[in-house]
Parts: sequence; C-alpha cells; structure tokens
Amino acid sequence: MSDKLKLNKKNFSEWYDKILAYADIVDDRFPLKGAFVWKPYGYKALSLMMKKMEKLLEKDGHKRCQFPMIVPMSLFKKEKDFLEGFTGETLRITKIGRRDLDEELIVRPTSETIIYPMFSLWIRSYRDLPLKVYQIVPIFRWETKMTKPMLRVRELAAFKEAHAVHATLEDAEKNFKNMVKLYEEFHSFLKIPFISLKTPEWDTFAGALYNYDLFTILPDGKAVELGSVINLGQKFSKAYDIKYMDEDEKEKYCYQTTYGISERSFGSALAIHGDDKGLVFSSEIAPIQVVIVPVSNDKIVLDRTKVIRELLEKEFRVEIDSSDKTPGEKFYHWEAKGVPIRIEVGNKEVEGNFFTISRRDDSSRHKIYEKEIVKEIHSTLKDIDMKLYEKAEKFFLSMITNVDTSGEAEKVLKEKGGIIRIPWCGDNSCGKKMSEDIVGQALGIDEKEKTDKKCAGCGKSGKYMLHIGRTC
Ligand SMILES: [Zn+2]
Repeated sequence: MSDKLKLNKKNFSEWYDKILAYADIVDDRFPLKGAFVWKPYGYKALSLMMKKMEKLLEKDGHKRCQFPMIVPMSLFKKEKDFLEGFTGETLRITKIGRRDLDEELIVRPTSETIIYPMFSLWIRSYRDLPLKVYQIVPIFRWETKMTKPMLRVRELAAFKEAHAVHATLEDAEKNFKNMVKLYEEFHSFLKIPFISLKTPEWDTFAGALYNYDLFTILPDGKAVELGSVINLGQKFSKAYDIKYMDEDEKEKYCYQTTYGISERSFGSALAIHGDDKGLVFSSEIAPIQVVIVPVSNDKIVLDRTKVIRELLEKEFRVEIDSSDKTPGEKFYHWEAKGVPIRIEVGNKEVEGNFFTISRRDDSSRHKIYEKEIVKEIHSTLKDIDMKLYEKAEKFFLSMITNVDTSGEAEKVLKEKGGIIRIPWCGDNSCGKKMSEDIVGQALGIDEKEKTDKKCAGCGKSGKYMLHIGRTC
C-alpha cells in the first residue's frame, strides 16, 4: 500500500489529489469538471467544521434559513454592479425540455439577489432590525481555470453565506467588525494562520462599499482566500427596496452586511497540516480522534480494545480497527487518514496493564495507564492542536516578505511564492498596475499599518503596504 501512494508534499498538487482520494475525503472522478463527490469520512469532518461556524453565528443572534437556488433574471439584474461582476460565471437556464423559457433563470452564484427581495417583504419597522440570517447551500460559479477539490471548484458544496440588515451605517460597521473577529476565531479553531486585509477598491465585491478578506498561504506558496466580510452599504437596499419605518416615523433605506466561508477553509486546513504520511487532522474536526489498533488477534487483546473504546467513546470519536490487515498496514492507513491519536494494544500492554499512545503529528509514543486515559487523551489532543498551529504559523510567517521594489516582488513571488508586502501610495490605478506588473493579485491592505517608504509603483510617498500574492 505504502509503495503505491508515495506521498511527497513538496509536489503539493499531486500530494493533495492523491491524499484526498486515498483518505476518502472527496472523489474527483465525477465526470463534470469542478464538481466533486463528498465521501462519508470527508463529509463528517466538513460537518464538524460547519457546526462550529453555526455555533458561532447562532451565539451572535443569526438564524438559519434556506432560500431557493434559482433566481429569475429580472431579480438577478436589479443591482447593476453585481450583475456586471457575476454574469460571466453564472449558469443560465433558458430551456425547459425543448421549449424556450419565457424568462431566463440563473443558478445562484451567491444569494443576494434571492434573499434581498424577501427582506424587502419581511422588514417593516426599526423593530425588525437587525435581521441576521444564514444558510449553508451549494452555489455554482463556472470556473474556467484548472479546478481543484475545495480550493477551486464550480460547485461549491457548502457555502455558508450570512446576510444581515441594519438600521444605520454605524450598526452595519459594528457588525462588520464583529464578523471579521468571528471569522478570525473560526480560522483559529481550524488552526489555520491567516491575515485579514481590506480588499483594494478595484477588486471589491460587486455591489459593495468595501470588504475584508482573510487569506492564508498553501504549501505551494499560493495565497488562498478563506472568507470574505462585506459592507454593502445601501446599494442593495436601494436596488431591492429594503426599507423600514424609523422611530421618527420616517421611512429609511436599510444598511446591509454579508459574509461567507466555504469548504475552502476545510481544504486549506488539510493542505496546511498534512505531511508526507498523509493528512493530519486537528482534533476538533477529526472524524475519528482516536483509533484503537490491536496488534495481535488474541482474544484477550481484542477484549481489551473494547474496554478502551468504552472508556473513551463518551468523550471522543473512537474506532477500533479489527480488520485482518497487519498492524503495520493499519498504522499506515490511519496515519494517512490523519487520525490524531492511535492506541496500540498487544499482549505486552495487556500483561502490563497499560496502553501505548502514538501521536500522528510527531510520531512520538508513550505509555499510559487506564485510570489516566481520558485525561491523557484530552491533553494530548490539545497539545497536538497547539503544535499543528505553531508549525503552520512558522511556515506562514516565513512566506510573508517585505520588499521595496516591483522587481524584488516579482522575484520573490516567482522563486518562493507567498505574500509580498510593498509600499503603495494608495492610488487605485497605480496599485492595479503594480500588481499586474508583478504578476500577482493585490490582496489588500491593513489600514492600521502606515508606511513612510516611497511607493514602489510611482515613487510618490507611500501610504500603505499593499499585499500581493499569486492565488490558487
Ligand atoms: Zn503609487
């Protein structure tokens, strides 16, 4: 088995495809480019991730809804920037059977144009605000470049989009900031290092005032957008007539915010934490947290594995591997699938009344005794999570490079990748040209961070550090 898989993470693209298939995360053999089949093991982990997101949102007062996936063109085209921004990648339905449809239908690329007409019916008074809802649904954006499971797809299987409506701009801005924090908390939970940046104006979400995106860096040096928090201002409320009667009895247009994440965060976690043996799950999203492997088939050993499972299953996701593979094959298999902790039980362990624990992250092994087992597993999982994050952060920081000139920036992106930070005057056409010259995408700025260096694009005095990367 091990000979067949031959994993080498230095060749990231191949590593990623191979391990997702071997570990039963997704099956990429469905004959439609960019659409992937979720297998039970992968789906379990994805669900654990989404449950965390739901918990965070619900705690903040969001309620889950579900809206239709198809929208009539007349609704879709109401906000012109949005229409412009999304038309190129939307699936359009023009026929039913052999007959032409009277009105063209659009399969959602995101749901603003589906949800907001309903908001306009639901919201009447200032008492209805804020309104905060979310849904977790598939969306379609017709990707033309090479696709990659979770990271670049046509069918995003689990798009969590939240939409909030506010009475004032201040309320919208407050929610915006809170949601950036919530997304940061979510990605910390996934043990993914990230940077939150304000998107440059020329790349702002279609129909928005401004947005912040969270980025991380994949092992191949490509930057990846994990999530986006968007302040829509009143552009959509005016297009979709979302108004409320204020306390002063005046009718006013609402302010709106929207924010989304998807399985891309999950794919990024797998990509970042894995190694040459396969996946490495952090504890919270591991479909199986502890696998118990009997190293002999003696009845006394097999009985012992059941005792351990009973001890653990109330608090952890546990499985016994009682297949007829050799212990070595079992070790290999569960390591590739990224199970954080393996417990080995053999005759030696039964006689000595102890267990041997093996950690997936650093392959270290140690003995533990029955009465300490629950406590020990808890603390080991916590330690694994911490180490995974430390390792990921070390790589992430090593891939962010400060440069002074475009030439230097291009060289870094070509040779090493990651994200470069370059002084910028703040002028849009200058920034856009600079990112194009460097052959990268301008990811954004940290508004709080100023620079006194000269703009690398035009030589005028610099204002911000523009972050540029090549994206996946
Ligand atoms: Zn400039």
